Amino acid sequence: MIKIVDLTKNFGELEVLKGVNFEIAKGEKIVVIGASGSGKSTLLRCLNMLEVPTSGEIFLDDEQVDVKNINVIRQKMGMVFQNFNLFPHLTVLQNIMLAPVQLKLASKEDAEVTAMELLKKIGLEDKANEHPNRLSGGQKQRIAIVRALAMKPEVMLFDEPTSALDPEMVGEVLSLMKSLADVGMTMVVVTHEMGFAKEVATKVVFMDEGVIAEVNSPKEFFENPQHPRLKTFLSNIL
Ligand code: ADP
Ligand code: MG
Repeated sequence: MIKIVDLTKNFGELEVLKGVNFEIAKGEKIVVIGASGSGKSTLLRCLNMLEVPTSGEIFLDDEQVDVKNINVIRQKMGMVFQNFNLFPHLTVLQNIMLAPVQLKLASKEDAEVTAMELLKKIGLEDKANEHPNRLSGGQKQRIAIVRALAMKPEVMLFDEPTSALDPEMVGEVLSLMKSLADVGMTMVVVTHEMGFAKEVATKVVFMDEGVIAEVNSPKEFFENPQHPRLKTFLSNIL
């Protein structure tokens, strides 16, 4: 479903991605871990062209990801950020309806019906007309997730979705992500939540200094790490 070929990204002199090759099949849940600065966010951002790669190719369903088809790509790949990125001046409902209506994927009426259904599923329909600043962090992030789902994406990208949350709110966001995984969503998740990785991932990826240094099933990845830097990384976090 996604194919990444020799992807590089430089910021000026700084080489952040140094040749990433990876394939993701439909329905996979890829968890990406690695030290701060190893290029995890840049990799996700290149996938949906929030950053334009320096070289290399990305394919989604055999279609090359390109600045020319950016709207199609962003519809197909939803993204959830550490800091929610909800529009503060819009209500919850308006946040969820905005992109589908602007991109003419749905009429206003249909977008509202979809948005309310999504809100019901996560038990937040009573927040439809609130502004984001009236919500807890966990509620904001769950709204951000359903906002992405309103586009009916094929893939969901998550960049440290629980890192900005108070500890007691991490669970509600992870359980929404697990329920998405259970219904077969293809997911790429950058996270430090090792429990989530063990339980949900089909593959765990270790990024180190701009390359994928190791890929394995969660069991092998955590029980039998090969790369010396992964061994060090795991011993520091576990
Ligand atoms: P990670 O998500 O693994 O912590 P990032 O992909 O955010 O890593 O960043 C990798 C490196 O790229 C870091 O050194 C970071 O400072 C740098 N970087 C990221 N985005 C930019 C940018 N827009 N401009 C310049 N440098 C950047
Ligand atoms: Mg990051």
